Amino acid sequence: MSVSKKIDHIKESQTTAMTSLSMKLKSEGKDIVNLSAGEPDFPTPRNIKDAAIKAIRDNFTKYTQVEGTTELREAVAEKFRRENGMEVDLPNILISSGGKQSIFNALQAICNPGDEVIIPSPYWVSYPEMVKLVDAIPVILRTREDKGFTFSVEDVASVLSKKTKAMIINTPSNPTGSMLDEATLRGISSLSDQHNFYIISDEVYEKIIYDGHKHFSIGSIPDIRDRVITTSSVSKAYSMTGWRIGFMAASEVIIKNATKIQSQTTSNPSSISQAAALEAIRGPQVEIEKMRLAFQRRRDIMLNKLSRIEGLVTMKPSGAFYLFPSIRKFLGKKHDTGELKSSLDVAQYLLTKGRVALVPGGAFGSDDHIRISYACSDRELVEAADRISNALGNLR
Ligand code: PLP
Repeated sequence: MSVSKKIDHIKESQTTAMTSLSMKLKSEGKDIVNLSAGEPDFPTPRNIKDAAIKAIRDNFTKYTQVEGTTELREAVAEKFRRENGMEVDLPNILISSGGKQSIFNALQAICNPGDEVIIPSPYWVSYPEMVKLVDAIPVILRTREDKGFTFSVEDVASVLSKKTKAMIINTPSNPTGSMLDEATLRGISSLSDQHNFYIISDEVYEKIIYDGHKHFSIGSIPDIRDRVITTSSVSKAYSMTGWRIGFMAASEVIIKNATKIQSQTTSNPSSISQAAALEAIRGPQVEIEKMRLAFQRRRDIMLNKLSRIEGLVTMKPSGAFYLFPSIRKFLGKKHDTGELKSSLDVAQYLLTKGRVALVPGGAFGSDDHIRISYACSDRELVEAADRISNALGNLR
């Protein structure tokens, strides 16, 4: 029996694949340090868990409105107004099962077959595959590594075409941790106005920012308000990846479209998780700052250790919890059983010989890099850096 041809061209998420492989090795008794995770290692804060337990006890366990409870949508609208300077109200908000669903809903709501969607590279693994799933075409915009993986408005203009329907931006970025400054975002907004394309602004790492950098939401620029779809979630900010709550802010037309899609596919996100997300957004925010400071300390520990490995070049990220070192100098080197020809070879070599799990840059559109997540303990980071150093030092 034949199956969907479209899915033949879709890649499985390599971040999840590496995590599964390292879990497998661990279950076989191998001592692996896992630097591949895309989630904070902290427990979900107590007040949030208590809100979920209360929801269950109160029998808040049935379907809610497809678009999320009014209370949570109001809290999200208020968050976008207060923290992001966006002029949004209840009809502009849709709650979904994770930021991932919000982004996919957004693409489904706006794309027609053959539309082009610009994706700056290195990119989050799911963007190109989601674009392909809606029969649109990913147009990859290479960023400049020497400029901290950023791009200029002229760079964006150079890849525009009559078919450009949207551009996805992600600031702070997974995998590079780079951020787009306000001037660039204003430039992109003017371009989208002139050339009539949407901007999907994925801001899931908006609360994990270091060194006094400021997050700017492109959706706060009034002139292009209806062209911007802002997505975010409670996953990374509140260490709630498993709860699956994300949200979208957009024009009423797009929210209506996306709600229609959600109503015929997944319906409302979990009622219990919605109650928890409401507490996350409206409750005390002290835990967020503690987590942010811990991430900043870990980033500095890891940067310091990696800077001592000859040949490994690592940019200092401004946000998120990843490092994206260049492994260019190690490609072509040999080990006992073969040669390192790609970032996948490097990741596999570091997993089998170094016992460190990380993600090959190829998954993010750059085969010259590897992605290291520093969402783990200081001790694990120091151990992992030593193992990476030893393993790379054994190459010829
Ligand atoms: N966007 C980016 C850049 C991410 O890294 C992730 C998760 O890894 C997501 C969106 C989706 O997160 P969630 O669906 O848990 O909200």
